[in-house]
Amino acid sequence: MYFSRDNVFYLNGKWLNATDAMGNLFSQTLHYGNGAFDGLRAYATNTGPQIFKAKQHFDRLHYSASKMSIDIDHTSEDLIEIAHQLLSKNRLNNAYIRPLVYLGADTELSETKEVFLLMAAWEWERYLGSDLLKVMISSYEKPSHESIPADTKIYGHYTNSILATMEAKSKGFDEALLLNSDGYVTEGPGANFFYEKDEVLYTPPAGDILPGITRATVISYAREIGYKVVEKQFTAEELVDADAAFFTGTAAEIAGIKSIGGHDFAMDWEDTVAYSLFLMYRQRVVNNEYRDFTLV
Ligand code: PMP
Repeated sequence: MYFSRDNVFYLNGKWLNATDAMGNLFSQTLHYGNGAFDGLRAYATNTGPQIFKAKQHFDRLHYSASKMSIDIDHTSEDLIEIAHQLLSKNRLNNAYIRPLVYLGADTELSETKEVFLLMAAWEWERYLGSDLLKVMISSYEKPSHESIPADTKIYGHYTNSILATMEAKSKGFDEALLLNSDGYVTEGPGANFFYEKDEVLYTPPAGDILPGITRATVISYAREIGYKVVEKQFTAEELVDADAAFFTGTAAEIAGIKSIGGHDFAMDWEDTVAYSLFLMYRQRVVNNEYRDFTLV
């Protein structure tokens, strides 16, 4: 449920009730998909909600918007403050936060000056759920960074993502994994991808992926506890011999994968390095036990 009668959101300096929301039906964003967004998560702690890597997410929102020549007249620090007010006004502790930049009316395919910054929050279970996932290699290709800047959360990417997820679901899978035009694995429609082999983790390099904030966090946790992480290109065929695989993302957190293309991974999820990282992430980020950290 994205909003209820009582839900309040932020729009260009004002706090509005969700049921009073109005938009311009001639928005360039609605017609042509010009805009940017991001997704953050807040977790309950003894001292109130903590937002996971808030500055990095809002800096990325600025970066994504700048790639479309859109100026956001709020600093990342302003946006962090607004996010905290948003949580408090909606009495949310564990929540997903969606800042979204959209544009005014324009029928041209060029820069539009009227910019709207919306921020909403709602309770949201882990995107991709908690069960191990059945994944298929998508027949849709991930756009190359030469067609759409890969390191941004601009809307164009998500047309491709929706097509890939819809295809996977229609074929009885939970999620898709996309290859680039050279046949190398890139990422899921809304999350980064890792596989594990002989206690080493492999993940596609920056280039045709969104190099996620969770991906960077997981890489640093793995290295901290002595595991090697290799960023390299690999094909779907190489996954047949993998011990395990998982997706990472702010909304998905760490989501384990059961099978790819109907082929189950050899190891039990609970016996993998990936699972240790899953527990570590849960303890540090989800349960916010940064200081008292011990690996379960
Ligand atoms: N790739 C794509 C295409 C995504 O939409 C996301 C979600 N933002 C990610 C990767 C993961 O990024 P992050 O860990 O920063 O949420």
